[in-house]
Amino acid sequence: MLGGLGTVGATAMLTGCQHFDKAIVGGEGWIPKQYQRSKYWPAQVRGRIPIHPESVSIDRNDEKCILCGQCIEACRGVQSVFKHYELPIVDDVICVDCGQCIMWCPTKSITEKSSINQVMEALEDPNKFVVVQTAPATRVALGEEFGLPPGTWVQGQQVAALKELGFDRVFDTSFGADLTIMEESKEFYKIVTGVYDRHLPLFTSCCPAWVKFCEYYYPDLVHHISSCGSPMQMVGATVKTYYAKLNNIDPEQIYTVAIMPCTAKKAEAKRLEMNASGRYWGNEEIRDADAVLTVRELAQMMKSAGIDVTALPEKDYDPILGKSSGGGLIFGATGGVMEACMRTAYYWFTKQDLPDEMLDFKPVRGLKGIKEASVEIPGVGTIRVAVVHGLGNTRVLLDAMRRGEKTGYHMIEVMACPGGCIGGGGQPRSALPPNDKLRQERIEKLYKKDALMKLRRSHKNPEIKALYENFYEKPGSKLAYKLLHPVYPEGRKPRTDNINITV
Ligand code: SF4
Ligand code: SF4
Repeated sequence: MLGGLGTVGATAMLTGCQHFDKAIVGGEGWIPKQYQRSKYWPAQVRGRIPIHPESVSIDRNDEKCILCGQCIEACRGVQSVFKHYELPIVDDVICVDCGQCIMWCPTKSITEKSSINQVMEALEDPNKFVVVQTAPATRVALGEEFGLPPGTWVQGQQVAALKELGFDRVFDTSFGADLTIMEESKEFYKIVTGVYDRHLPLFTSCCPAWVKFCEYYYPDLVHHISSCGSPMQMVGATVKTYYAKLNNIDPEQIYTVAIMPCTAKKAEAKRLEMNASGRYWGNEEIRDADAVLTVRELAQMMKSAGIDVTALPEKDYDPILGKSSGGGLIFGATGGVMEACMRTAYYWFTKQDLPDEMLDFKPVRGLKGIKEASVEIPGVGTIRVAVVHGLGNTRVLLDAMRRGEKTGYHMIEVMACPGGCIGGGGQPRSALPPNDKLRQERIEKLYKKDALMKLRRSHKNPEIKALYENFYEKPGSKLAYKLLHPVYPEGRKPRTDNINITV
């Protein structure tokens, strides 16, 4: 018996998994094939998390699994997902796609679900116009795959590598982050001023693992999540509408790829509702984001093509979706979305720019699990905000709110990964398990770059201004809602129907 081996977690997990169909737990059965007779078990059997064979975000190679239980540490300990529901569960494996288990797995048994082949096919197809975008956090981590120290800035080299790989256009997800700030800060402004009849606090919506976590565990709070799509989705929808029209490109021929620090983005791109551009053109087959590659997958493609990031000249993003503000850039760090949002919300409330000396919103920076801060806005009063990263910390905050111990927030930023996207499940595995030193090095570089930029407020970005002048008209317009705020076919449906929540 496993219990006789003095193992942790494995007994309960194996018992629970007897309720699963073999196909559900991974084709090879719960215990990897090589360990199906107890005398072959490794010395330290601690068990493992279930992974659905049809997961669109993560994959497991059974042959590499040593049942060490590190994935349990990540999923249950750090993220408070595994074992926070009761088995048996019906038709599902509860996973929010964050990929933190990948970052803890010592044997690389767990990986992202690869999208390299699909992207290569698109690049080789002469009828496809292949557009790629890169998330803020990727440019301070890609270098690590090529031996550079954590936090090395390789933005221009990454762009050059993507052009060398054959992408037709290279755009910046930080531009999409500026666009998100325009929409989200306007939504916030309208809730605070009573234009929208909705309750505070407003939760950020750009992290799909957080959104799924909320749908599973806190369905009563789902309606507090901003209606905005994520920066990745906003760029995808804008490319297939505005950019396609402007350049007379058939949207059906455009293939959009996103380089992300994230595995949850793979799942987000596949959510039913993420086809705003398809609905715009009357062809539901058109998806806003066709494929998502993690930073590790991009590095793999580069290495296969003999491209070394350290030997590349820097190149610029392509206009007209390639310019970003410092606000868009710091989206990659915990607290960055809130900081950027306040820079622009201040403008909506006062019709004046946030004074330069208030641009660095230091109380929301850093790696403390739950951060609280306030901003004084003339004529409005005190805006109280909270920032949380890591889903375990998120659970602590939300439970305190449910108990009435934490109240009065106007806005809350939630990022599923420790440190925010710089610590995402698609980043290089430069420390195992990831630690705060690594996270801090990546974060520091984003803040340093932001501090050096002249353009630090999203609403000042000239490409964003042009986009509204030429297409969306104004933040929160009818067209902006159609393309940038996902429509959930059955409403923002809680996922709790098929699980029993335990704490
Ligand atoms: S991706 Fe995240 S939620 Fe899913 S199994 Fe891994 S750690 Fe758990
Ligand atoms: S914090 Fe960032 S990297 Fe992590 S799941 Fe959310 S969006 Fe993805």
